[in-house]
Amino acid sequence: MKDAPARKHLGQNFLHDPQIIDKIVESIGPSAGDKLVEIGPGRGAITGPLLDAGVCLTALELDQELAAALPGRFPGADLTVHPVDALKFDFAVLGSGDLRLVGNLPYNVSTPLLFHVLASAAKFRDLHVMLQKEVVLRMAADPGSRAYGRLSVAVGARCRITPLFRIGPGAFKPAPKVDSMFVRLTPDAQVRSQISSEPLFDRVVTQAFSQRRKQLANGLKTLISAAELRELNIDPACRAETLQVADFIGIANALARRESALKR
Ligand code: SAM
Repeated sequence: MKDAPARKHLGQNFLHDPQIIDKIVESIGPSAGDKLVEIGPGRGAITGPLLDAGVCLTALELDQELAAALPGRFPGADLTVHPVDALKFDFAVLGSGDLRLVGNLPYNVSTPLLFHVLASAAKFRDLHVMLQKEVVLRMAADPGSRAYGRLSVAVGARCRITPLFRIGPGAFKPAPKVDSMFVRLTPDAQVRSQISSEPLFDRVVTQAFSQRRKQLANGLKTLISAAELRELNIDPACRAETLQVADFIGIANALARRESALKR
């Protein structure tokens, strides 16, 4: 049967370059029995070689037609397909820990997808995802650089970030207008365990970068005073883009301590 045309609104750019697909699968390094979750398997370009390695794979595919066709492409494989929106998927239903997430993500929703997945970061051994190159560069940016922002801090507080390789538009059909990059994220329980309240941490980071050119004390004035920032050894006149992940954790934890003192 002929494949339906790619649906642009679902971010459908299908991988077709066998060398790139091999490189992706090699970077993931699947072993028999690994429990994988794939977001957006599409026509199964990566799904097939992963299943060949003997993994158990749960696929989340929003396109009902592609989701329905997937099992037929890989008869006898250990494959479960959920025809769902990955943004609304509750990873808790897949049981506890040691999951491996993979995906050539739909670029139109890649950032909200990342935040949704990272909320369950403790469940994952690792995540291997294809993203627009600029998104990976923002993730991996160092404090003080122009690309450093909310995404760098939010991801850096939860994972080690290893950009793997760049992929040009020609590897996809249809070809996207942007370059892509494959990246490995390894959840880091040690850093994450230092955050007392993840919702508070995310609030501080979002607010600090919503006005990134402002002095920190101004941007965060509804949350914390200049005096409290000084107590944390943070210069109230600095800009959010100069702070390390640990500084944001320090601010969020001070707010968490204040909240719990008020409840007592
Ligand atoms: N993995 C395939 C490949 O590499 O050829 C397809 C990748 S394509 C960039 C993105 C896939 O994600 C498409 O199959 C699309 O239908 C699916 N998709 C888009 N939004 C989704 C969502 N919210 N939840 C689950 N899948 C989604």
